[in-house]
Amino acid sequence: MRYFLENLFQKLLAIILMVTINVSYAQTRIEGLLYLDNNPVSLEIKDGKILSVQPIDKLSDERHPLFIAPGLIDNQVNGFAGVSFCFGGGELNKEGILKATRELWKKGVTTYLPTLTTNNKDVLLCNFALLADSKNNEALLGSIPGYHLEGPYISPEDGYRGAHPLKYVHKPDWKEFMEFYEASGRNILTITIAPELEGAMEFIRKCTAMGITVAIGHHNAPKAIIDEAVMNGAKIATHLGNGCANMINRHNNPLWPQLANDRLMASLICDGFHLRDEEIAVFYKVKGPEKTIITSDVTSFAALPPGEYKNEEGETIELTKEGMLRYPAQNVLYGSASPISRGVIHIMKVTGCSLGEAIQMASTNPARLYGLTDRGSIEPGKRADLILFELGDSELTIRKTFVAGNLVYDSSK
Ligand SMILES: [Zn+2]
Repeated sequence: MRYFLENLFQKLLAIILMVTINVSYAQTRIEGLLYLDNNPVSLEIKDGKILSVQPIDKLSDERHPLFIAPGLIDNQVNGFAGVSFCFGGGELNKEGILKATRELWKKGVTTYLPTLTTNNKDVLLCNFALLADSKNNEALLGSIPGYHLEGPYISPEDGYRGAHPLKYVHKPDWKEFMEFYEASGRNILTITIAPELEGAMEFIRKCTAMGITVAIGHHNAPKAIIDEAVMNGAKIATHLGNGCANMINRHNNPLWPQLANDRLMASLICDGFHLRDEEIAVFYKVKGPEKTIITSDVTSFAALPPGEYKNEEGETIELTKEGMLRYPAQNVLYGSASPISRGVIHIMKVTGCSLGEAIQMASTNPARLYGLTDRGSIEPGKRADLILFELGDSELTIRKTFVAGNLVYDSSK
């Protein structure tokens, strides 16, 4: 009996110890200046979620004050750090997806939508299949909730089409789209299409009914068509001001009606190269912090050293030391090389908006748009996707990144 009791006591002690260790391991405290009002707060994190947010008198380490904000959410990532989600040739693999994700964590991006652009059907099917289980891949910690398909149902017109290859551009094809959707594990969250194409309205209605967010972009649609697309469920203009011809009619062009429609949000590439400062200023004045999203449109050439690289077609792409990505053969931009942590600082400079508003446009708004209700703000119950940072001259200087409560990046290490 005595032996039995001793044994039981030891087992109980072991269980209590294990529980204590687990609790202390799973529970963390993080301090920072809250991005909304610059006041010091202490966050309690438990089991990957925010348990509480408490105001405090001062930070424990006042010599190195860091801001705290929800992790950034980028809805348009074509690739990053040498990894392309778009290229064919069997280049994309699981290690690449993890590498791109880890490099984005270093830039404060804790959620992103890998974006596949116009390409041949087999490449799209193959890359969607490779990405398909990302949502459930534990190593990615839920950073990839779904995908963005930009094209191939866009305008074939030069200028509006941008860098999308003409040979693969075509009108909306629901049967084909369903093949992409199935290949992606039914995780295409959003699609960018041109609403003026034959069959586009029906396509928009079907996507909307399925909960897929429709964006309009790379199009040359008149006002009536844009308004009809919005009536049918289109919610956002993709990278407003880009994917547009250089020469447009001053009255009849796609920019005015997209600006004038109050129900349409707009994503803006705020890298300092894609839009003039005054364009960003005006777009922001019209759409405001509620209806603007900062996007990156980053490609695989982002986060690489300046120099010359080759694209999928073997053509030369130049990344300048200023961070501009050029396609020298046509003297045009070739996507972006700047993550949205740069866009946050740039839009603050250009518009005079607050840090809180800039983070809203780079985290809260995309979370809301795609129904990602577990992220995009600092509140009890939300995922502990958090960034600690300083305001750098040209981008947020990220010091620490937490994804679902895990410290995934620490600049001091
Ligand atoms: Zn585009």
